Amino acid sequence: GNEEDAAKAAAATADSGASTIFDKIINKEIPSTIVYEDDKVLAFRDVNPQAPVHVLVIPKLRDGLTQLGKAEERHGNILGRLMYAAKIVAEKEGILDGFRVVINNGPGACQSVYHLHLHVLGGRQMKWPPG
Ligand code: IMP
Repeated sequence: GNEEDAAKAAAATADSGASTIFDKIINKEIPSTIVYEDDKVLAFRDVNPQAPVHVLVIPKLRDGLTQLGKAEERHGNILGRLMYAAKIVAEKEGILDGFRVVINNGPGACQSVYHLHLHVLGGRQMKWPPG
């Protein structure tokens, strides 16, 4: 039934701790369109954009941050760096006057890649509430 299907879908996308496709992007084993990069952070375009600007901002070192819900106090620095990188991306993309930063956490929020990432979305009127 529907409940069973939903449970299976959630299990299929739960946090296993396995490395993800983002490691391959970081290591340049698969191509991406990089928007911003520094020693700690990488920002690249989402392959399935939900807005004219849709950029993912990730830590180069996952360090246990498969999802925001796994954050610990020691992650404070990188969490701040990610947020600041989102602003740099918005500035570079010319959407500083209207952009959204989203973090999907866990199956209940449809997280599909278990390497923490901020979605930076803009370039159109963003609606509220989100889906
Ligand atoms: P989540 O659903 O919040 O976990 O977001 C994962 C995002 O990664 C989705 O928006 C996907 O479109 C995106 N994505 C998955 N694989 C790739 C890739 O190889 N390159 C760029 N974006 C990707």
